[in-house]
This record gives sequence, structure tokens and C-alpha cells, in this order.
Amino acid sequence: PIVAMSQKNYNNKIIEEKKFLNNLLEELVQIDTKKLELAYFPSLGLIPIATEILKDTNINVGAQNISPILNGATTGEYSIETLKDYGGNFVEIGHAERRNVFFESSNIIHQKILLTFEEGLKPLVCIGESEYLPAFVRKNIFKNDLMELLKDVSEKYLTELTIAYEPIWAIGKIKAADSQYIFESHVVIREILTELYGIDIANSVRIIYGGSVNIETTKEIIVNENVDGVFVGRYGHDPKKLAEIINIVS
Ligand code: PEP
Repeated sequence: PIVAMSQKNYNNKIIEEKKFLNNLLEELVQIDTKKLELAYFPSLGLIPIATEILKDTNINVGAQNISPILNGATTGEYSIETLKDYGGNFVEIGHAERRNVFFESSNIIHQKILLTFEEGLKPLVCIGESEYLPAFVRKNIFKNDLMELLKDVSEKYLTELTIAYEPIWAIGKIKAADSQYIFESHVVIREILTELYGIDIANSVRIIYGGSVNIETTKEIIVNENVDGVFVGRYGHDPKKLAEIINIVS
């Protein structure tokens, strides 16, 4: 299983980031995380701080966004070369806020996924519907999205793929989507991957849930065989609560 953690743009100050990560590491001393993959996504400018503090731990660091091209004329973007240089190895791609606030197209998201794989890093690709919908409608949306986003990706890379299922209507809310609804989505995503790539690859892709995940959500959903982990946002900004979530998943 995998626990991904995003600061979005909440912790933007060096002093806050150091305090958060040191407190988290203290909390994690008592937890056996050996069977877990952990990926932490600080706000972009704090990647040097996060990689420094986490360098001797099993917590991977990722970027919340990268430039779709390695180096060149993309002013203001963050290069995957820089991320690699700092020792980061995950890239979050296609978050709802990237798509909706910054109008990132599927084509751009697709380029970022290809680049991430080619550079040997692990993409965490976010998908999700914008409103509460029946499972068969969700399946059509996810299938179209995944076919576009994963076009031309060599199958050899897919075992390194993590899909974050994040219903857009459940991000930043008081409560996550209900567990039955989450289970349905994870089943249809696994079905789509099976239809596209066969059962072995489909089973190797991690499908995790994100969108107002808290301790209770994690307890409820992690028991399901199609839920390979959680993507924690605001409710993980308290290191004690985040450690508790990690403990539940471990
Ligand atoms: C997110 O935006 O990816 C996320 C998980 O946020 P939150 O948990 O705060 O809804």
C-alpha cells in the first residue's frame, strides 16, 4: 500500500515545513512503515528542505507539478531535472486544481506523464469526475481520460504508475465521498486497466483514494482490496493525525 501526502500550498514557509516534517518523523518512530510506500508532496519551492530532512528516511519526495518539457522555453515551470537533482522521485500530475484553476489540458498532462516515465520517476496521476454520478457514467469518463493520458506509454512503465482517484466534488470538503461510492470507482478503474492492459498490469497499478481523507475515511476504505492506499491533503497537515492515518494503512 501507499500513502501519498500533499501540502498543496499551505506550508510555504521554511520554518513551518521543518517543524511539520520533524514532528512527523517523531510520530513515525513508533510506527512500522516497512510495508508501505510513502510519498510526500511539499509545496514546490520547499522541495530542497523536504528532501534534506527526509533523506535518510523511507519517505519519498515528489513534486506537485513539473514542466512538460525537460529543459527549454517553459518560463515559470519546474523542471523534473531539478526534482531529480534534489533526490525527488514522484511527480503528481493532473490534479483537479491544475486542470481547473490553471486550465491544464489532457495533452499537457499526457506529456508530463511520458516525461516522468522516461526520466525514471513515478507519476501519481489524478483523475476524477466533477459531480456525483452513477458508476457506469464514471466508467466512461475515467476510460476516456485514461486512454488519452496513457496513450503511447510503454507497458513496461505501468507497474510504476499510481492513480489517485479524486472525485473533484469531494476535494477540500468536510467529508470524503462515501465508501461504497469510492469502492465502485476503484472497481471500474481496475476494470478499465484490465481491459486496456490485462489483469497482471491492472493489478500492479496502485489505485488510491483522495478527497478530504481523514482517519475515519482511511479506516473505512483501506479494507477494500481495490483500495491500495490514500492520498491525504488537509486532514494530514497535523503530523499526529497524518501519523495515525499512516498507522492504519500500515
Ligand atoms: C487533494 O487536493 O489532492 C486532497 C487530497 O485534498 P483534501 O484532502 O484537502 O481534499
